[in-house]
Amino acid sequence: MKLDYESSSISCSWAKRVLLRILPDYGLVLTVPKNFDRSRINKILEDNRNWIERHLEEQALNGSLGCPEDILPKNIAFEANGETWQVRYFEYPHIRLRLTSDSDSRGIQLAGDTSDHANCYRLLKQWLRDQDKRILLPWLEKLSDESGLRATRVQIKTQKSRWGSYSTRGTLSLNAALLFLPAPAVRYVLIHELCHTVHHGHSMQFWNLVRRLEPNYRQLNRETEEAHEKIPGWVRL
Ligand SMILES: [Zn+2]
Repeated sequence: MKLDYESSSISCSWAKRVLLRILPDYGLVLTVPKNFDRSRINKILEDNRNWIERHLEEQALNGSLGCPEDILPKNIAFEANGETWQVRYFEYPHIRLRLTSDSDSRGIQLAGDTSDHANCYRLLKQWLRDQDKRILLPWLEKLSDESGLRATRVQIKTQKSRWGSYSTRGTLSLNAALLFLPAPAVRYVLIHELCHTVHHGHSMQFWNLVRRLEPNYRQLNRETEEAHEKIPGWVRL
């Protein structure tokens, strides 16, 4: 992410504290708050060495640790609107990989060199952003009509640490993975970012405006902070 964008955007990062976890498909995951002094990471790992080794060993024995690169999704389920898409892979080693999808049958086909997983993920993420545009943009438009709050520009990005952001230049960015959240949480994120079109920071006035549009904002905010584990592995890579 470019620095000029970073410096002029509102961070709605979900990481508020240092969190050390061992997740299926990922192994060891360390989450740190934005602006965290990364030189401290080695010490944190060293201090927790025993805990890490014990848990990694346990999970390896259970067989629940896998390598994310080896997992191609067979289904893609959007909790936001209940859609489930089936993904099928056709291996033709010498043909350039292509993705086609059919909205009637909710089927996705990847044909070509499917052993190139990085390329599969790239095409699936491109497809995901198209679905974001199809589902999230009209949703945002409806909320803009209802609230009178409107961003001049909207973009969908694969972001690692936030669900959305709003830049001083008037660009509202949404995380491509939002579709994996429940509908109330998605609606909350859209409202949160729309409120930044009026109040740039997280001031009292900002939260008052959020509350007017979504009285249950506290609980939903907590839910979104904890919901990043809903993002499938192939989206995070
Ligand atoms: Zn915010």
